[in-house]
Amino acid sequence: MDDWQKALANAVSDVDELLGLLDLSAKDVQSFTPKRFGLRVPRAFVAKMQPKNPNDPLLLQVLPQLDETMFAAGYSTDPLAENAQNPIKGLLHKYQNRALITLTGACAVHCRYCFRQHFDYQSNMPSAQVKAEILAYLAADEKINEVLLSGGDPLNVSNRRLAQWLDELAKIKHIKTIRIHTRLPVVLPSRVDNAFLDMLKNCPKHIVMVLHINHANEIDETFAQKCQALKQAGVVLLNQTVLLKGVNDDAKTLAALSHALFDAGIMPYYLHILDKVAGAAHFDVPMAQAVAIYWQLLARVSGYLVPKLVQELPNRPYKTPVDLHKFAAD
Ligand SMILES: *Cc1c(COP(=O)(O)O)cnc(C)c1O
Ligand code: SF4
Repeated sequence: MDDWQKALANAVSDVDELLGLLDLSAKDVQSFTPKRFGLRVPRAFVAKMQPKNPNDPLLLQVLPQLDETMFAAGYSTDPLAENAQNPIKGLLHKYQNRALITLTGACAVHCRYCFRQHFDYQSNMPSAQVKAEILAYLAADEKINEVLLSGGDPLNVSNRRLAQWLDELAKIKHIKTIRIHTRLPVVLPSRVDNAFLDMLKNCPKHIVMVLHINHANEIDETFAQKCQALKQAGVVLLNQTVLLKGVNDDAKTLAALSHALFDAGIMPYYLHILDKVAGAAHFDVPMAQAVAIYWQLLARVSGYLVPKLVQELPNRPYKTPVDLHKFAAD
């Protein structure tokens, strides 16, 4: 087992243990133990939380809260109607030039607002035969010039298996870019080990890594050093954020995030409106408020530090830019 795999296996999955590590008691929070999609958070991420703070923006992202169990109208288990855009199990092909492989259903961390928390990963785990089908599908469609490795978290997969995918994808001429959508380097920086860096360095395609960071406190020195190593390996680093009530729903917090990202060598890419997935209603920021925050962000930071505000609507051929002019700037 690699070191990062040991750390992964040693993630915190017990609410009381998490609270204990943070000097909090059960009375400080409204938590519970879910039957499915339970608490899961690597210790390296817990270490970035502030002790004794029940409203810590990192804690709120991972702590199962009783609010999850409340029914909310308009929230569903498949908010993006993705189950219908699944040509082969393990492949999502929603947009013309890019296709997404769900390499694994597993994640290192269980984000409580995750829009794929109800997705049927078990039947979407590519077996050897399905892998061949996926590669044949990608090879047959010359319009596909970019392949996304996603999940779950694709970096949950061993270096050996990742290398096999990269080798196979490298053989397909019309694929120019391989994009890795991952949160693992943030929650467990040791995942970015030398074998992984070498693999990326030696890949003949462009490599883009889209990280998922919601708050500046997620960025520490250890993680920033890994970002430097990734950049030296030729990787383009981008970030996507989900706008979350109680975590990052104000312009000051988002501006601090953009600056911290830039310091670490990462460019802001997307700011997502929360998908209406069952169990996540307590993170919702109403659209008018989201847009008001965004106008304030525009006024605060350089243009290249402003992520695109988008919303994923079912059956559109792109992620939809939010119409800022429907809501006045204040
Ligand atoms: C988000 C997403 C992509 C990538 O879209 P970009 O706008 O290029 O970031 C591709 N495929 C699927 C299924 C997606 O959900
Ligand atoms: S890392 Fe991404 S896919 Fe995994 S639980 Fe978090 S938001 Fe969902």
